[in-house]
Order: sequence, then C-alpha cells, then structure tokens
Amino acid sequence: MKRLSLESQISIKGGTGYFLRTADNLRILSADTLLCETSGATRKIGISVSSGCRVGCRYCFTNKYSCYRQLSQRELCEQVSFVLERNPTFESSSALKVSLKQMGDPALNSRQVLAALRLFAGDYPDAMLVVSTSAPKIEAGFFEGLQKLQDSGANIRLQFSCHTTSDAERGFLSHKIPMMSLAEIGVVANRWNGQRVTLNFVVFEGYSYDVEVLEKHFNPDKVLIKINYIDRNTQTEKNEFRDVVASQKHAFVESLQRAGYKLAHRKLFA
Ligand code: SF4
Repeated sequence: MKRLSLESQISIKGGTGYFLRTADNLRILSADTLLCETSGATRKIGISVSSGCRVGCRYCFTNKYSCYRQLSQRELCEQVSFVLERNPTFESSSALKVSLKQMGDPALNSRQVLAALRLFAGDYPDAMLVVSTSAPKIEAGFFEGLQKLQDSGANIRLQFSCHTTSDAERGFLSHKIPMMSLAEIGVVANRWNGQRVTLNFVVFEGYSYDVEVLEKHFNPDKVLIKINYIDRNTQTEKNEFRDVVASQKHAFVESLQRAGYKLAHRKLFA
C-alpha cells in the first residue's frame, strides 16, 4: 500500500521538485535532478528524512513547518520509487545518486535511515548514497552504522554542513539543539574508511573562516571542502544572510589550497 501521495510539483534548477503528503497529511519534499559533470551526467534523487526539522538552522525553509515527524524506512524508500516511477525515462543511462538531504537531518533519524540505506544498497548497487548532516549531537552508533554499511559494499558519501569555522557560530546558526564541535566532526571524518568526507561551507558574510582551525581538526587527505552559495528562501531573507563578497571567498579558498585541502565548488545547474 502506498503511503505517499503527490500534492504538487515544481520546476527547480536541473529538474523537478515533488511535494508529497504522508498518510497522516504531513508535507515532505523529494526532487529529481540531472547534474551535468565533466565525468558525465548524474541523476540525483533527493529525499526527505523527516517532515519539518528540529535542528532549526536559521537559514532553512523548514522553520516554516509547524510539525516535525521522522519518516519511516518505508516512507524513505517510497520516495525513491515514486520519483523513478514518475519519470522512468529520465536519462536512464546516467549514474544515480540518492541524496538524503532534501528535508530533515539523517543523524536524528538514524535507525530508519540506516535501514533504508541497507535496502538502497541492495536495490541500486551502483548508486552513490549521499548522507548529509548538519551534525547535531546524537547518541553514538550512527556513524559506526554508516561505516559498517560502507564496509559491506555500499557506496556512501558522508557530508557535514559546517558553514563556519567557529563552534559558537555553528551553535548560533543551528540553535535549537546542541551541535557537534568541529573537533568531534574531525574525529569522525579522519576515521572514516571510504571516499573523502565532504565539509560543506556556504560562505556567509560576517562569519568566521579560519583555515588554521580546520588544520587543527581535519586531515587534508581525508576531506573534500565544498564551497557553496546561498539558496535564497524566506528565512535567508528574513535573517539577512548574504554570500561574502568574491574577494573574501577567494582569500578563504587560497588559504585552503595553501593548507593542502582538496576543493570543490558547487556549480550552477545548466
Ligand atoms: S538540518 Fe537541514 S533540514 Fe534541518 S534545519 Fe538544518 S538545513 Fe534545515
């Protein structure tokens, strides 16, 4: 029996976003996009891990959601089947990425997320499974569970949203629950046995970007630093988030390069 129904669909950069309703009438978001990279095209299916989110990042659209509920493993899997059934011909020759970052934080729904990833790894053995977290403080076990899956053959890409090199500023940005410090994230990243762990930085005006702090906690051989920009929404406008000016972003990038970090820049979709 299907648990999700389509409420509406919208055009987004590179593809389509689907607002779905759960059986108890909560709204979630799934997305189907095509990323054109030098290595070829990749189809990215983005899924939600909850309706709403209790991390409460000040720049996030989920602040407008009054309810929060973690999704079940079935609801996670059904989002992928929904998107694939909706558009079975969408560049079927492309590589596949299933990305758990559309809405909610996977670390807060670890049991259901790990169970769904286990199924994805069996059903889509060639897919990259992207697990992106803002790193709320959680009980032990989630990252160990991910490592076990990775060790058993799943292709997991672990990502942390950092956005500043100050723990105090991270706590301010995501103020509703305690967050892991950069030192704690560094322990997970440096131990991770798999492809490089991505550290995601939207470089905000007025926040700290001190490469010496990163050097203290992150081995350059274990991480990839992704430089990102703001996706504007009502919350970024209300709280007056701005991208830094280009010269400051370049200074951060040059310091990272000098320190030996591998970098990636988020591209705009074609
Ligand atoms: S963790 Fe992700 S979904 Fe949750 S509030 Fe922060 S940005 Fe939004």
